Amino acid sequence: MLRKTKIIATLGPATASEESIGELIEAGVDVFRLNMSHAPHDWVRQMVSFIRHQSAEQDRSVATLIDLQGPSIRTGVLETPIELAKGDIMEFRAMDTEPSEPNSTTTNYDGLAQDVAVGNIMLVDNGEIHFKILRIEGSRVICKTLTAGKMGSRRHINLPGIRVNLPSLTKKDLVDLELAVELEVDFVAISFVRDGGHVNDLRELLEEKSCRAKIVAKIEDQEAVKNLEEIILASDAVMVARGDLGIEVHIEELPVIQRTILRECARIGRKVIVATHMLESMIENPVPTRAEVTDVSNAIFEQADAVMVSGETSVGKYPVRCIEILDRIARRMEREPCAGYAQDAVLKTEKQHTVKSAVVLADSLNDSVILVFTARGVLANYVAHCRPKHSPIFAFSPDEKVARALHMNRAITPFVMEFATEPDVTINNAMDILKARGLIDAGDPIVILSDVLTGEFDTNAILLRKA
Ligand code: PEP
Repeated sequence: MLRKTKIIATLGPATASEESIGELIEAGVDVFRLNMSHAPHDWVRQMVSFIRHQSAEQDRSVATLIDLQGPSIRTGVLETPIELAKGDIMEFRAMDTEPSEPNSTTTNYDGLAQDVAVGNIMLVDNGEIHFKILRIEGSRVICKTLTAGKMGSRRHINLPGIRVNLPSLTKKDLVDLELAVELEVDFVAISFVRDGGHVNDLRELLEEKSCRAKIVAKIEDQEAVKNLEEIILASDAVMVARGDLGIEVHIEELPVIQRTILRECARIGRKVIVATHMLESMIENPVPTRAEVTDVSNAIFEQADAVMVSGETSVGKYPVRCIEILDRIARRMEREPCAGYAQDAVLKTEKQHTVKSAVVLADSLNDSVILVFTARGVLANYVAHCRPKHSPIFAFSPDEKVARALHMNRAITPFVMEFATEPDVTINNAMDILKARGLIDAGDPIVILSDVLTGEFDTNAILLRKA
């Protein structure tokens, strides 16, 4: 049985070798994530070459995703960390200023003092240290410490509910984007996206650079939740980035927002990734907590396209075990009835209705598989969005990039194959590949869809064959 849910693994010091990447591919990683908040360019170049080499060695194609840091506000560099007790005063000031308080740091955003107001709450270092703003003096923000903590250098600042006037793509993002273009990665993730316009700006930039990378919008603050529908419509995929989202919203809202995002992606028809803290305890421990297993299985029940691990594989002690655990949970849960949000999918075009009919047909036949011939990947995406109940989706495209990007879709196994001029020859060639790999057995019902084969087999046709 093929696993339907895809696995995204973040690379980092714990996995930065060709050997580790090879082991992760063997364990079942479908997409590798390179987090530009931490990754120097030469390191990323080397990782991508390891990924491509291992992928060729194992004859297992995998996709790559570059995650742009986005407008993240960070504290400055400190010679020694500041120990803060409850009630201590802490100053956050613009870059070109001198300290006016004993506890003081710069930030990378000189406009901070203009965006916040007295009484606002600021959270620093993954939400661990809480501050209340007491005074704003020019470009200085003076706060009272609400929860004690030790503040180191370059810590992330969250401002829940506050609209920050930073551009959607920073200077650093634009430089990192050049790297994504150079390396022809399959996905670019945009962090702290606040509205659909931000996604459209990135799309325009990618088009200008003739880059075909698909866009993943990371939902990580209240503004993005407010503008969810327009963001989903503008994106190719959406990530429930629970790390920052869990700081930016009241924590009890997080599961509600996750469910809303999954339902909306199913309704509109976009890929969706559930990310962060999925197996967090496995950074240190060889087994996950029971709660983590249940959290992962909930994302599978909700039929996410992919689940993503971050620290677990970038700095954790058991990166390969984490992938094995995700694989086991996914395979087990996929045998259970799922949430079925795709029932509410909006079908607008004739092609979408044809795809839905093909999926209904496949659902009604035991042991059926769906075979889709797709030039740009659009038809294959439609099939995956309909969430076939049991049938795997085998997608064939002559375009390697189209095929690679399909690794992000639930239940799709993509193949690169040239199409013959005769549709029957193309279909038989694809079936031969599937038989040779043991993916179909003689007599299995094959539901075939295509948006590329001409002749008698027209674009909006469904064929039913036996393997
Ligand atoms: C997150 O916040 O959950 C996330 C995936 O983003 P990052 O790791 O870039 O903070």
